[in-house]
Amino acid sequence: MLSFWSQKLKKKETSPEEILDEYLTKIKKFDEKIGAFIEVEEEDARNWAKEAKKRWEKGQNLSDYDGIPIGIKDNIVTQGRKVSCASKILEGYISPFSATVIERLQALGFNTMGRLNMDEFAMGSSTENSAYKITRNPHDLSRSPGGSSGGSAAAVAAGFVPAALGSDTGGSIRQPASFCGIYGLKPTYGTVSRYGLVAFASSLDQIGPLTLTASDARLLYECIKGHDPRDSTTIPASKYRVVQKPIEELRIGYSEELLDGCQSEVKKSFEELTRILRKEVIKSGDLFPIHLPHQKYGIAVYYITATSEASANLARFDGIRYGYRYPSNNLLELYEKSRTIGFGTEVKRRILLGTFALSSGYYDAYYAQAQKVRRLIRQDYLNAFQEVDLILLPTSPTVAFLLGEKTHDPVQMYLSDIFTVGASLAGIPALSIPGPTQGLPIGMQLQGPYFSENLLLDLAQKLETAYGAKMAKLG
Ligand code: GLN
Repeated sequence: MLSFWSQKLKKKETSPEEILDEYLTKIKKFDEKIGAFIEVEEEDARNWAKEAKKRWEKGQNLSDYDGIPIGIKDNIVTQGRKVSCASKILEGYISPFSATVIERLQALGFNTMGRLNMDEFAMGSSTENSAYKITRNPHDLSRSPGGSSGGSAAAVAAGFVPAALGSDTGGSIRQPASFCGIYGLKPTYGTVSRYGLVAFASSLDQIGPLTLTASDARLLYECIKGHDPRDSTTIPASKYRVVQKPIEELRIGYSEELLDGCQSEVKKSFEELTRILRKEVIKSGDLFPIHLPHQKYGIAVYYITATSEASANLARFDGIRYGYRYPSNNLLELYEKSRTIGFGTEVKRRILLGTFALSSGYYDAYYAQAQKVRRLIRQDYLNAFQEVDLILLPTSPTVAFLLGEKTHDPVQMYLSDIFTVGASLAGIPALSIPGPTQGLPIGMQLQGPYFSENLLLDLAQKLETAYGAKMAKLG
């Protein structure tokens, strides 16, 4: 989509204003049903398009993509615009600065727009934890678009924006991409700056693209990645290692144990994909089972780590520095009531879990132990990548579940992240691509060694001709 619009702009067959209009018309017609946006930011977007048009007319366009809209998840900040993380506690908050990814996209002229709905503070797998609204899956309105970047995935699948940014801490880009039939890339930890991404669990959070094609994912990733002095966990360019190999020769591993708990449609899709890979794609390569012995501890390790970090990160929302403040002259009451009223149930649950895991007396048994097992999970991957170039597994054990189906059982909701948390804990890149299906979208996941984004995307691009993204049909 991004090169489609870019070509048209270059040939002067369209203008940034016309492109924006086309998307805004769709949003106005259908977003009432879907609920992808918390706010569209129409005025800012129109102003940007107007300026971009002038630049193209003068031949001063900032890049070939100047004026193309990109939707933004509501936990990535833009100077002078609201940001809420879909939480009441940030209601009315306006950011005094822009995230590095926003600065990078805007420097190329991209029209970054909209505050896309999400689970509050990115905690959830269905976008039902937003304090503002639920988002529906454009392929079936009774179902969840996944989460926490459900607004981003739904907006792309519904054709409200050509592409969007989301954030992934334990699967929040990949699982919604899978439920909505599109591409979602969680990059290698440290390749994309987190400056200006409201922190959930800092050692896991990464920003990444949700797109309709593999080449769009590649393009957006290239635009946002790179060292940033304002995020000391970003990796300097000199440390990057490019991983390359001809697609036909790829050696791909998969884990049989992990497939056991999957819905039958998901298993079928996986089997069909492996058949195609063997027959048509990796002709001189190989596809065989591998063993990742510590994967089964992934959910436990992830939920201890993520909640511990969240309990520390969310301490800053005290009713004084940001957003909502309970009116009181008593300081303790102000803190207590601001947080009690401002945070939703899931966020409070996680703060309590995290505080408990970090408390003296329990720290060694929970947090410290989780970090040890995290290292073993990472080591499993490093061992596996001695044998194989990539790992293939489903993105989620089920297709998009019904809205309300898991909201009363947090553990069931957490278990839906079983295939995504491993890559987050190890920091390796992982890409969800549309898999073979007759019905609802089913995502398949490619995981690779550090910095292997190119390889994952090469294979995705090769498979794209057989199984591309599916745009939803809306009325
Ligand atoms: N679903 C997971 C959670 O609730 C992952 C969320 C995310 O990646 N932001 O924590």
